[in-house]
Amino acid sequence: MHTQVGIIGAGPAGLFLAHLLYREGIDCVVLEARSRAYVEDRVRAGVLEQGTVDLMHELGLDERLRRECMVDHAIDMRFSGKLIHIDLPGLTAGKVVTIYGQQEVVKDLIAARIADGGRIEFEAEVTGFADLDGAKPAIRYCKDGAEHTLTCDIIAGCDGFHGVARTAIPDGVLTAYDHVFPFGWLGVLAEAPPIREMTYANHDRGFALCSRRSPKISRHYVQVAPDEDAANWSDDRFWNELHVRMNDADKSEINEGKILQKGVTPVRAFVAAPMRYGKLFLAGDAAHIVPPTGAKGLNLAAADVRVLARALMAYFRTGATERLDRYSDTCLRRVWKVVRYSWHMTSLLHRFPAHSAFERNIQIGELDYLLGSRAAQQTIAENYVGLPLEDD
Ligand SMILES: Cc1cc2nc3c(=O)[nH]c(=O)nc-3n(C[C@H](O)[C@H](O)[C@H](O)COP(=O)(O)OP(=O)(O)OC[C@H]3O[C@@H](n4cnc5c(N)ncnc54)[C@H](O)[C@@H]3O)c2cc1C
Repeated sequence: MHTQVGIIGAGPAGLFLAHLLYREGIDCVVLEARSRAYVEDRVRAGVLEQGTVDLMHELGLDERLRRECMVDHAIDMRFSGKLIHIDLPGLTAGKVVTIYGQQEVVKDLIAARIADGGRIEFEAEVTGFADLDGAKPAIRYCKDGAEHTLTCDIIAGCDGFHGVARTAIPDGVLTAYDHVFPFGWLGVLAEAPPIREMTYANHDRGFALCSRRSPKISRHYVQVAPDEDAANWSDDRFWNELHVRMNDADKSEINEGKILQKGVTPVRAFVAAPMRYGKLFLAGDAAHIVPPTGAKGLNLAAADVRVLARALMAYFRTGATERLDRYSDTCLRRVWKVVRYSWHMTSLLHRFPAHSAFERNIQIGELDYLLGSRAAQQTIAENYVGLPLEDD
């Protein structure tokens, strides 16, 4: 079997790329290790930058999003009994972010791709590659107990942080930049009307975040030890800790409800560079992950594949390789700006076990500065709504 672009992974990166290529008449096959139900139910991100919403619109995939999304006009930050209110449109000439769960994006992208007659092979686990830097690259995968080979002109490794594409690149080609924070996030998805604004808290007992997924569904997090076992957290313990860290002692602001999902996520930044080896191009979490504090992972994945799709259009139309050659540099410029922002938000809002009293006071001083400075708030706001897309 042969295709022009073999895409590994049916997450946001792989699915957006499949749609962008289809629009240009470029043939592709998506290979996904998990079942359709599994990827459609996987709860992860939910804050979409305007660039990501625009991409869904351009692809004609935003009908349900427009009906069901929520629009966030502000973020709040609480610390030492004070409240910083960051008015997004007021600080960014009218920009906002859109709340629509990643699993809903994935459902919409899969349904439309299948309706278009596109090929997504579920439960097709990629196990190896051949000739990645040669003329006839190929992907080996396992489906229904049998081994298959897909030959391609180009391979897109959109298989997430734990995928196989990045690890197939020979030693010495990539440089890995890794930063592991000394804490994790215990996250819950709850059947409860969300808090009024997306709200971050820096409390003496640790970070907390109350975010929104829909008018009836809340997504909340508290900072925990990186190796914390979610089983140690009864629902009552979670709610009580969240109320304390959010300064909601009388429990009047945060609605409790049935917890639908609970899990611990590590907080980490990782970048692999370059995002290419021969005919293999990495995109999304396969190449980089950012701490979730900035709400950027999905948006970065979408930004990568926009650049990759344009480069592939030029390549398949005329054979021009210049854009493909620039792909990694173009993406990495945005990636490092987003890593910086996500690292800054993480550093500002968490309690660091090793911090001295001096460092804790510096952190509170920075929050106090943010409280009183329009310039400082504008810096946060323009990153939160999404920096302009890179020229390529
Ligand atoms: C637990 C968790 C919680 C998160 N929460 C947030 C959040 O709250 N806010 C935020 O902004 N971001 C969050 N993120 C980050 C965000 O969800 C990711 O950045 C986003 O999913 C990246 O999309 P992607 O397509 O690059 O990778 P993924 O969504 O990971 O998709 C990769 C796909 O490749 C498939 N795959 C892997 N290996 C193979 C193989 N060998 N063969 C075939 N297929 C394979 C996987 O099954 C998967 O479907 C979270 C991430 C995780 C892991």
